Amino acid sequence: MIKLTDDLKNAIDNFAVSVRKLYKIDIPINDINIIINNIGGKIQLVANSLDNAQIIKENDTFIIEVDNSLSKEKRLSAIAHELGHLFLHMGYESNFALWDKQPNGYKKEGYPKEEYEANYFVGSFLLPEKDFKLFIDKHKKNNTINISEIAKAFNVSNALVINRGYTLGLFE
Ligand SMILES: [Zn+2]
Repeated sequence: MIKLTDDLKNAIDNFAVSVRKLYKIDIPINDINIIINNIGGKIQLVANSLDNAQIIKENDTFIIEVDNSLSKEKRLSAIAHELGHLFLHMGYESNFALWDKQPNGYKKEGYPKEEYEANYFVGSFLLPEKDFKLFIDKHKKNNTINISEIAKAFNVSNALVINRGYTLGLFE
């Protein structure tokens, strides 16, 4: 089992902050299509996809294919996972040498470490520590938090809220 070090988690959190700043992405994300357009790519809905989502390099741009049967929350997380690959592992608009090395076509999955990193990026991107903490402080009642309320506010699943909350040490 691969565990990401705290240093690596911090680096991914900081990277997600930079990505949101660079593309002026506000949290919560209500329309991911607009954001992907602003970043310079496209979303394509597909039927019966093998994975929830896949990323394809097309010269200077990219396409994210998403299974059209996913719920709104799962779709957003699946797209955020592919954005993790785009920025962390393909170098899009951040590491030009790495981006140039990427062949056109589907990004191959299969490096377990990259999958963990992309999964961690989903939480970093959709549940920024600052906004997440602020929301909890504001909505805590009698020292109790409502997971579903947070999930709904950030357009993510309950599972992601729980996972992120423990990772950030906000839940006991
Ligand atoms: Zn992946």
